[in-house]
Amino acid sequence: MARLICDVAVIGAGTAGLAAERRARQEGAKTLLIDDRFAGTTCATVGCMPSKLLIAAGEAAEAVRRAAVFGIGTAAPVVDGVAVLHRVRAERDHFAAATRESFDALPPGTMRRGRARFTGPSTLALDDGDGVVAKAVVIATGSQPSVPPVFEPVRSRVLTNETLFELPDLPGSVAVIGAGPLGLELAQALARLGVSVAVFDQGQRFAGLQDPDVAAVLRTMLERDFPVRLGVRLHATLDGAAVALSWDGPGAGRERFDYLLVAAGRPPALAGLGLDRAGIVCDDESVPVFDRLTMQCGGAPVFIAGDATAERPVLHEASATGTIAGWNAACYPRVRPGRRTVPFAIMFTDPPLAVIGRVDDAASVVGEASYADQGRARVEALNRGLVKLYAEPATGRLVGAVMAAPGADHMAHLIAWAIEQRQTADDVLNMPIYHPTLEEGLKSALTQICKAVGAVAPPDRDRGSMPGA
Ligand SMILES: Cc1cc2nc3c(=O)[nH]c(=O)nc-3n(C[C@H](O)[C@H](O)[C@H](O)COP(=O)(O)OP(=O)(O)OC[C@H]3O[C@@H](n4cnc5c(N)ncnc54)[C@H](O)[C@@H]3O)c2cc1C
Repeated sequence: MARLICDVAVIGAGTAGLAAERRARQEGAKTLLIDDRFAGTTCATVGCMPSKLLIAAGEAAEAVRRAAVFGIGTAAPVVDGVAVLHRVRAERDHFAAATRESFDALPPGTMRRGRARFTGPSTLALDDGDGVVAKAVVIATGSQPSVPPVFEPVRSRVLTNETLFELPDLPGSVAVIGAGPLGLELAQALARLGVSVAVFDQGQRFAGLQDPDVAAVLRTMLERDFPVRLGVRLHATLDGAAVALSWDGPGAGRERFDYLLVAAGRPPALAGLGLDRAGIVCDDESVPVFDRLTMQCGGAPVFIAGDATAERPVLHEASATGTIAGWNAACYPRVRPGRRTVPFAIMFTDPPLAVIGRVDDAASVVGEASYADQGRARVEALNRGLVKLYAEPATGRLVGAVMAAPGADHMAHLIAWAIEQRQTADDVLNMPIYHPTLEEGLKSALTQICKAVGAVAPPDRDRGSMPGA
């Protein structure tokens, strides 16, 4: 039994762990990066990248179908499921290999394969019997799919994001469990690839949205591709090589599906970590209580980052929080706040959904823009969607946005950056906006905010609306 000595031990070699290890090493710390697989990050192997690859294939099929709108005649697209999944895996492997190359670039002795658990606040035991003594530890163990017990009887027909992309061919039918962003992205991609899809959720929220107006508009648009049943209680049994799924509640029914794709949340992967030995406090969900600026857990030499925090499970946050955690772990006990940016999440459906910052009707002035008749959106035959921008009533400073509209995945960056720059709606309107673009559609929402807060346009700026804007 060996005792490995280091300054900073990082548990988990995903996006957060890699960022934490790198930052700690840059601070001069001797680091140890522990992972049970070193397979590549979740993003590259079973998350962002393979899901976007599947979505890209669905969009290609949809573009063929939509061509008729422009007077272009085509036959219906022929989807070769084997080829679709072959490309998904080939490109996914390319991205995963790139993340594994970053392991190869680590200094010798930094990587240690194994499952780690705490034996004290800065000591770990590995599953092969070796121990680790560190000055500080970073928990970067990510999250994992959760399959509710009700689906145990049909486990052999349950897919998650960890198994979907390994299918040799596209299935005939899939019930997607979970109407959150991950479920809806995959549901639309599969539906556009010719899979018969239905989405079920026991809750009432669509895409995790609090805003009923945007949720309703988005739901109508996505229901062109597949039905969504919210507020249902599900019961599943095996039916030969398929699943018989019945549901109570609104529109009760029963249907056979080849598979269930469970996208019902990804809780932090903290089981078996021995957190009770780490000298830290956990909340009711057994997630460590941490300072969101320093990423420190209480006063212990323990830091946490990425999906393990259960705070903002998206990639850029894993990278940012990993960096802060690694920095502070290396400098412990001199712990300093790091900079966190505005909350920002995108769902890559058609149309995309973006949610940024503080979205609170009661505390804000709200500007709305419909994309039902927006100029560039009409040109592209994508004219549907709704955007709401939120601003401080006293100043018109932008604080948040909900955008379900064509191009929202790009336009959202402009709003997130404006929020980061503490810009007002007036500031944004005083910048050039090209014609005819999807961005022009934001002008009406920004103008409404300016009117509501009494921001008067400078005499040399026109705030009138242009045809086709
Ligand atoms: C289908 C899907 C699509 C997504 N799409 C997007 C997207 O488009 N954009 C976006 O921003 N985000 C997206 N995400 C979220 C994004 O992938 C995650 O936020 C990010 O990958 C989390 O990184 P992480 O470092 O926290 O965890 P991971 O990358 O999961 O790393 C955790 C590592 O810890 C290891 N580990 C766990 N426990 C132990 C232990 N006890 N001992 C040793 N090692 C351990 C694991 O093996 C793993 O390697 C998506 C996620 C999914 C599932």
